[in-house]
Amino acid sequence: MTNQAKKPCLRVIPLGGLHEIGKNTCVFEYGDDIMLVDAGLAFPSDGMHGVNVVMPDTSYLKENQKRIRGMIVTHGHEDHIGGIAHHLKNFNIPVIHGPRLALAMLTGKMEEAGVMDRTILQTVAPRDVVKVGQHFSVEFIRNTHSMADSFSLAITTPVGTVIFTGDFKFDHTPVDGETFDMARLAHYGEQGVLCLFSDSTNSEVPGFCPPERSVFPCLDRHISQADGRVIITTFASSIHRVAMILELALKNGRKVGLLGRSMLNVIAKARELGYMRAPDDLFVPIKQIRDLPDRETLLLMTGSQGEPLAALSRISRGEHPQVQVKTSDTIIFSASPIPGNTISVVNTIDRLMMLGAKVVYGKGEGIHVSGHGFQEDQKLMLALTKPKYFVPVHGEHRMLVCHSKTAQSMGVPAENILIIDNGDVVELTPDSIAKGEPVKAGIELLDASRNGIVDARVLKERQQLADDGVITMLAVISTDGVMAAPPRVNLRGVVTAADPRELSLWAEREITWVLENRWQQLSRNSGGKAPDVDWMGVQREIEIGLQRRLRRELQVEPLIICLVQPAPGGTPAYKGRADAEPDTRPAPRGGRGGGRPERVERSQQPRRELAAVGAAPAPAAAPAAAPAPAPAAVATPARTEEPEISGRTRRRRSAAAG
Ligand SMILES: [Zn+2]
Ligand SMILES: [Zn+2]
Repeated sequence: MTNQAKKPCLRVIPLGGLHEIGKNTCVFEYGDDIMLVDAGLAFPSDGMHGVNVVMPDTSYLKENQKRIRGMIVTHGHEDHIGGIAHHLKNFNIPVIHGPRLALAMLTGKMEEAGVMDRTILQTVAPRDVVKVGQHFSVEFIRNTHSMADSFSLAITTPVGTVIFTGDFKFDHTPVDGETFDMARLAHYGEQGVLCLFSDSTNSEVPGFCPPERSVFPCLDRHISQADGRVIITTFASSIHRVAMILELALKNGRKVGLLGRSMLNVIAKARELGYMRAPDDLFVPIKQIRDLPDRETLLLMTGSQGEPLAALSRISRGEHPQVQVKTSDTIIFSASPIPGNTISVVNTIDRLMMLGAKVVYGKGEGIHVSGHGFQEDQKLMLALTKPKYFVPVHGEHRMLVCHSKTAQSMGVPAENILIIDNGDVVELTPDSIAKGEPVKAGIELLDASRNGIVDARVLKERQQLADDGVITMLAVISTDGVMAAPPRVNLRGVVTAADPRELSLWAEREITWVLENRWQQLSRNSGGKAPDVDWMGVQREIEIGLQRRLRRELQVEPLIICLVQPAPGGTPAYKGRADAEPDTRPAPRGGRGGGRPERVERSQQPRRELAAVGAAPAPAAAPAAAPAPAPAAVATPARTEEPEISGRTRRRRSAAAG
């Protein structure tokens, strides 16, 4: 803002898509106008337990929603449109301009989310120019990519023209015949381009990206040589690839069965809009395709990324209700794994091979090409647009760095290039490029239901559960601040060298500490019979204390859940076995020497604790029953440590159930 006051400048703020592949979301800002370019989603990485979808943090847009004049969509891939329906629940976008296919796919998502009334969808054709707000006019330049109906953008602003490539490669023989409108790029290059924002996905790969058509003969060879069924997996959104596979099925006399929701949806949409031509009778419902000879069957399905719930993954695990692998099957992976998915993909391939199928995969087979240009494509883009300033986008950090080197090799001075991160602000004037004060950026995680947001706290808890397990603890504390029963500690998924008794002692110590040091703050005598106690606060203090201790003593960080059961005032205090100064206090019971029990006592000690646990009734209901462990319990035969834990666990559960 301060910079804006100094000198009018164009601000370009990516909220996603940098230092990553996914959730591309870019904000263009001039004066009072905000224009959005794309709003995608990303898929969760390992450790994001139960997270379905990753969105960028859009606090900045929520705060500035009054200034949003419209959105531009470059193409229909999920990493460019997957966030829009979700964002529309939070802020309005007056109008969205985009390609027909992308908007058709977006409509489905918006209907599902119930946000159709939140915006107006405007379809564009190649070379259309749309005006957004007072300051932006955008020309849609046809480009080539793995998705049909894709565009690069020429964005004219008061400070100059910006070329925003969107996802692209230079494919001179595109499957749908829609060639890259290079003449328009050259036109803008000739007029003068202030800044180029260019796709960096394959900046590390030398050469030109092979044309999409080049996979046709390779797929043809594998399909025509197959004796049994052909099973192919690819991205449903790779419209050109799917179109070629349908063409090959027709050519090889095979009927097509489709599996996977997105495969069915995208093909239906693309056929309806004329992006794919295939006769209706090419398709056979999956239930009937089993009646056809294997040699006349081609199954096209989702699962190319090893997604656990996708059709091919389920087939590989023998969990699909309709399709089982046969040894005569030829299974073709016509896609390469997105970096984070490599392990699940190779696991799927292994399982399919173990079931006896022939699996065709990998780079050498010529059955997949990328939709993103390589270094030479990127050079051609730079050569045509001749930008003064350059910002590599759509890529992980090393890809951005590599792309910047390519630009330098083409004569763009290093000081005219900015490598930025999500939330960074690129400030452009006719003769300068600089980074402004960054805005809030981050991630928002949607739960499997897509209804709830998995915030940082929930995610941390899930990670703790998965990594270190959970410890629950029941503390019985009377309203006058005394521990009325020994804490019950219960472990799930926790691996620790400490024995249960030790944990129980630690829990006692933390409770004692909180009662001695925090009780004053946490309870307030309001004049009534019993003081007002902030039980949640007590609980939190105990959790924090135990957490610190476990981290310090055992280097584990399980999730700790402390439940405090209040007991009436006057309940006799339970004399803990653990003390802050063990040696100075009397032995807890049984007349042994005081202090913290040594490990040699293990065979006896846990028994007593078990007994105590078993003997302790719900103290609130029966305060007098604060445990004085029955001596008989000491005689309980010793058990080994492990069954003991489960024994404790069972007991706790039944106690909890009661
Ligand atoms: Zn794309
Ligand atoms: Zn993309």
